[in-house]
Amino acid sequence: MLVLVVNAGSSSLKYQLLDTESEIVWAVGLVERIGEATSAVTHRSRIRVGAGAPLEVHERTGAIADHAAAFDAVDALFAATGEVAEVGQLVGVGHRVVQGGDQFVEPTVVDPEVIEVVRSLNPLAPLHNPACVAGLESAMAAHPEVPHVAVFDTAFHATIPPAAYTYAIDQSVARAHRIRRYGFHGTSHKYVTAKAAEVLGKPVGEVDLVTLHLGNGASACAVRAGRSVETSMGLTPLEGLVMGTRSGDLDPAIAFHLITTAGMTAAEVDAMLNKRSGLVGLCGQNDLREVHRLAAAGDADAELALQVYVHRIRKYVGAYLAVLGRADAIVFTAGVGENDPEIRRRVVAGMEMAGIAIDTELNAATRGPSKPVDLSFRGAPIRVLVVPTNEELEIARQTAAAVR
Ligand code: AMP
Repeated sequence: MLVLVVNAGSSSLKYQLLDTESEIVWAVGLVERIGEATSAVTHRSRIRVGAGAPLEVHERTGAIADHAAAFDAVDALFAATGEVAEVGQLVGVGHRVVQGGDQFVEPTVVDPEVIEVVRSLNPLAPLHNPACVAGLESAMAAHPEVPHVAVFDTAFHATIPPAAYTYAIDQSVARAHRIRRYGFHGTSHKYVTAKAAEVLGKPVGEVDLVTLHLGNGASACAVRAGRSVETSMGLTPLEGLVMGTRSGDLDPAIAFHLITTAGMTAAEVDAMLNKRSGLVGLCGQNDLREVHRLAAAGDADAELALQVYVHRIRKYVGAYLAVLGRADAIVFTAGVGENDPEIRRRVVAGMEMAGIAIDTELNAATRGPSKPVDLSFRGAPIRVLVVPTNEELEIARQTAAAVR
């Protein structure tokens, strides 16, 4: 079943055209700098090249005013390269939507009423949700002939119990403003949970895991019996692990201190914590490859950044093992989790007492695997897995299921 998967950001639009049965990705593209004079579309197509060959690249530059114009540009490329015409009938468009609140816990076929409810959630995710709404509206205008399905980043975490999702603040305020832990990256945590269950040879409903999605954004999830029971991101994707540009956990009083004594505005603190903190705040680089390079060259800030980054992850692994009481595996995924043996080594170092031990040579050789890899020593009570995530495939599958 042919599905177009759309991931709309504030100034970008990522998309994939893929077949949910064969898992072939027919086209993958990115529209960047929407709203600027220097917008660019990079469209990679498989249609005229064989399986295994590099994708054929089509580029287009020039101003793209908004998400509606971005869809026009993408449609023009699809028409020029011929994917939809040659590959078959599109059955639906799947949209990644960041915030589903507590209203949306399943993939949802979108109509104008759903869009209004998603829009009402914008205050809960002001950096992300407005772009998702723009993406939904533009895509539905461009492709009214097929159903559109919203797949929510928060949905997998709908099973988190109140003890884990409730913040210990004045509950009348919390309820009035819908303040609670929602959690994000749910599509990825769900996908790697199912893959890990396959590797472990157990039904997904019987696996207990700590999943670590370590990309530019990063989050940890405790999975009991295949369901999320705790996760590190909270009301927004700012809480939890140290990320590329986001601070993760901190004392909330830091924000008030900066406002009252350093003269910063709330908007300036918000921008600093989301855009100039995390690895970039610690050492000036958000890409771990660069952080490692600087640390190896003797940069003390970069080495400290690595230590802070790893320390936070270890703290969460320990906490989540305590939450779960037992675990089948720790799962590493996303850009860092799949590609960075040094971070993985440091995260699990010295955890033999908890039954966690990895084959260091296999770990060092595992970079960007196409299939899951089990790094643990045979017989280790808690396995350590590297599982490549595939959020687009998961969104496409959920879209196809919702459409069916
Ligand atoms: P993602 O958000 O999952 O695409 O992950 C992007 C991040 O993964 C980058 O910012 C890097 O920090 C990290 N990354 C990607 N490739 C590597 C690599 N080969 N080694 C270390 N980190 C990597």
